[in-house]
Amino acid sequence: MSLNPLGNYHSGSIEVICGPMFSGKTEELIRRVRRAQIARQKVQIFKPAIDDRYHESNVVSHSAQEIQAQPVKDSLEILKKLFDSTRVVAIDEVQFFDESIHKVVSKLARRGIRVILAGLDQDYKGNPFGSIPQLLAMADSVDKIQAICTVCGGPASKTYRKFDQKEDQVVVGEADIYEARCRTHCDYSEEEELLFFHWGKPVDQTQSPS
Ligand code: ADP
Ligand code: MG
Repeated sequence: MSLNPLGNYHSGSIEVICGPMFSGKTEELIRRVRRAQIARQKVQIFKPAIDDRYHESNVVSHSAQEIQAQPVKDSLEILKKLFDSTRVVAIDEVQFFDESIHKVVSKLARRGIRVILAGLDQDYKGNPFGSIPQLLAMADSVDKIQAICTVCGGPASKTYRKFDQKEDQVVVGEADIYEARCRTHCDYSEEEELLFFHWGKPVDQTQSPS
C-alpha cells in the first residue's frame, strides 16, 4: 500500500477482462485506461512484443481504437520499466506472457497499483490459455465478455481457428485465421473425447442409462 495525495492509502487491485477474440477486451481495456487518465492517474500500458499484428507498440482494437503501449519481451521487463509514480498498469494479451506473470501482477498490486489485464481465457481448442487460470483466481474482479458467433449471430465465448495451423497453441493471427463462435458452432475433439470417457474408462455406448 502507498499514500495517495489525500493522505489515504492506495489499495492495489487486479481486474481481469477475458473472453474470446473479437469480444471487446481491448476496447474495454482502453476505456478503463482513458478514464484513469481523465482522473490524472499515471498509467503505463504494456503488451507482449510477440503481438505486432496491428502495430509494433500501440495496443489496437479490432474497431481501430488505439492507445500507446510499451512492448515487452517478458513479464520481468514490466517491473524494470515501471515508474515510481505509476498508479495504474494495463496489460493487453496477457495470455502470451511467461509463467512469472502472476508473480509480477501480484507484486504490482501489493505496491498499491491498480492492475488491469485483458486476455484470452481459452485457446482455439477450448483449453485455458497460459497463466490465465492463476490470474483469474487471484483477481479482485473478473469480466468474461462475449463476441458474436460468426455462424448463428448468438453470443460467442469461443475462438475458432479456421485452418488447422500445426498444433501450436500460439499462432498470432487475425480474422484471416480466427473467428468468434458459440459452443454449438465450435467443434472441439477434446471435449468430444470427454463424452466417451468416464473416470478414465470408456463408456459403453450400447448401454442405456439406468
Ligand atoms: P478483442 O480484444 O476481444 O479481440 P477488440 O476490442 O479488439 O476485441 O474488438 C472488438 C470489436 O471487434 C467490436 O466492437 C466489433 O467492432 C469488432 N468485431 C469484429 N468481429 C466481431 C464479432 N464476431 N463479434 C463481436 N465484435 C466483432
Ligand atoms: Mg484484443
